[in-house]
Amino acid sequence: MHLVWTGVARLLQRQGDASLKFVLQEAAQGELYAFGLSEPGNDAVLFDSTTAAAPQPDGGYAFTGTKIFTSLAPAWTRLGVFGKTAPADGIEELVHGFVTRGSSGVHTVEDWNTLGMRASQSHTTLLEEVVVPAERIFRHLPVGPNADPLVFAIFAVFETLLSAVYTGIGDRSLALAISFAGQRTGGSGALALSQHPEIRWQIAEAAMAMDSLDAQLRSVARDLDDGADHGGRWFAKLVGLKLRATTVAREVNDVGLHLAGGRGYHAASEIGRLHRDVLAGQYHPSSSESAHRTVASAWLGPLTAD
Ligand SMILES: Cc1cc2nc3c(=O)[nH]c(=O)nc-3n(C[C@H](O)[C@H](O)[C@H](O)COP(=O)(O)OP(=O)(O)OC[C@H]3O[C@@H](n4cnc5c(N)ncnc54)[C@H](O)[C@@H]3O)c2cc1C
Repeated sequence: MHLVWTGVARLLQRQGDASLKFVLQEAAQGELYAFGLSEPGNDAVLFDSTTAAAPQPDGGYAFTGTKIFTSLAPAWTRLGVFGKTAPADGIEELVHGFVTRGSSGVHTVEDWNTLGMRASQSHTTLLEEVVVPAERIFRHLPVGPNADPLVFAIFAVFETLLSAVYTGIGDRSLALAISFAGQRTGGSGALALSQHPEIRWQIAEAAMAMDSLDAQLRSVARDLDDGADHGGRWFAKLVGLKLRATTVAREVNDVGLHLAGGRGYHAASEIGRLHRDVLAGQYHPSSSESAHRTVASAWLGPLTAD
């Protein structure tokens, strides 16, 4: 999540938008950035918010709301949040800013008790009139879908880095599957599993899937770095990568779990830990349904109204 913010700052900077230059400077000085964007039941993700952003006389905002799954909760020193203003002249807006650790009104609810227990401990964060000063407010956006470069940058960096994490889980699962196939023997006890044609097929399928995923991840990451122009297909490429990475990693992990035999079912086994971890991939945006909608629209155009 720290790297998502530094990646967003870099993408914006490349386009001549220096609004997050301070993120890069502070990260270089050791500050740790986290993402406090997700909210319970908010399917609009970046396009709406259930958090209230109340304007302060000096240009700052006071944020009140609930942010779920704040990874790095025990350690962050800067938390990116957003919220929605009350209507003024009938218009609401979304306001983005960075909270500094130690600000009054930030409460961490220690509810990180999940299937996959990561060291990054994604606790819930309650914001109670947390004031972000004017110099830490970095964007005002309309409610609803919009093409602001910040939205693209957050989405692009988030989906690509997230995909890299799950690709890594897939890689390690394949390595473990291969080692189980070499170590374990079949029913007769004579031949290693790696000598059984059915098992060789499974490993070959998993390896081919990982090779394709590796190529897809590198291509999207390179295009992002090079500023490639995919026009209206950019979002389709990003959600496609995220869905492919989280799905393939899970399938390859299943092969490892299968070849581990009963030892894989022990809670302390590495392949079992990777299994619990890979399950989380389905919960990050974009969901399978949303990804398919995005890709279908990119290729077929929007759904026409009845
Ligand atoms: C391992 C992991 C790490 C993550 N790290 C981050 C991060 O660092 N920063 C970040 O911003 N997001 C993070 N997320 C959140 C993620 O991006 C999604 O927002 C999250 O998984 C919610 O998905 P959902 O829409 O399926 O769940 P939701 O349906 O929104 O459910 C999520 C939680 O909200 C509750 N809930 C749902 N609807 C309501 C309601 N109407 N009222 C009250 N409670 C409700 C549910 O019971 C559940 O506990 C992380 C998620 C995971 C799994």
